[in-house]
Amino acid sequence: MRLLVGTGFKMNLTSSEARRYFDAFVPLVASLTACDLFVLPPFTSIWVARERLSGSNVAWGAQDVHPEDGGAHTGDISAAMLSDLGCTYVEVGHSERRRDHGETDASVAAKVAQILRHQMTPIVCVGEPSRGLVAALDFVLSQVRTVCELVRGPERGRVIFAYEPVWAIGIGAMPADPSHVGAMHSGIHELLLSKAGGGHDSRVIYGGSVDVSSARPLLDEHGVDGLFVGRAALDPHQLAAIAAVADRVAASSPG
Ligand code: PEP
Repeated sequence: MRLLVGTGFKMNLTSSEARRYFDAFVPLVASLTACDLFVLPPFTSIWVARERLSGSNVAWGAQDVHPEDGGAHTGDISAAMLSDLGCTYVEVGHSERRRDHGETDASVAAKVAQILRHQMTPIVCVGEPSRGLVAALDFVLSQVRTVCELVRGPERGRVIFAYEPVWAIGIGAMPADPSHVGAMHSGIHELLLSKAGGGHDSRVIYGGSVDVSSARPLLDEHGVDGLFVGRAALDPHQLAAIAAVADRVAASSPG
C-alpha cells in the first residue's frame, strides 16, 4: 500500500492565500515519488487547487459533501460539483463536523456511498472522544462498521479511514502515543479484512497533532498507511517536510 500524506485546511486560507500556498508547496514536493499527497482546501479554493496543482504530484479534494445528488439544499455542495472540479478525495465525518453539524455515523456512511458513486475516494474520519477510554477500539470499530454495512463489495476497499482520536486534535493537544495508534490501526485493519468488514483492506491513515518530529515514529507503526496533518500543514514547508519523511519511509520499505 502506498503511503498517503495530506491535509485539510479547515476554515483557513482565502483563495489568494491558497494560491500562494500551492505555489510554495508544489516545488517542495516535486521530487517525492514514493507516497501519495493531497490537500483539501475550503470549497472556495478548490478551483484554485485545480489551477495550481494540475499536472503536479499533489491531488486535491474537499472537506465535506452532501449525500444527495442535488436540489433544495441551500448552501450545500454535491459530489458532481466536486468531481467536476477534479477532486480526487473527499473527507467526511471529521469530529468538528460531527460536533458542529450533528453528523452521525449513518449520515457519514451515506456521504461515503455518494462519493464512491462519483468515482472519488472518501477519507472517513473516525476516533474516540476521550483519552484513556477503555472501549476506544470498540467505539472506533462501530464507526467503521457503519460504513462497511452501507458500502459492500470491492467498492469498500476504495474507502480510506483516518484514525483521528478527538483528544489528540487541535491547539494544545499532543499526538497519540505511537503504540496506541498502532493498536488502533491493527484493529481497524482486522475488521476491514474480516467478513464483517467486507473482506477488503484499505489505507488507514493517522491524524492528530502530527508534526515533523512525530511523523517517523507514527509511520513506523504497523498498519499506519499515512498521515493526515492539521495545523502543522498550514505552513507548506512543514507539510513538505512531513511528506519527505513519509517518502523516505516508503522508499525504504520492502514493498
Ligand atoms: C485534524 O483536525 O484533522 C487534525 C489532524 O488537526 P491537528 O493536526 O491540528 O491536530
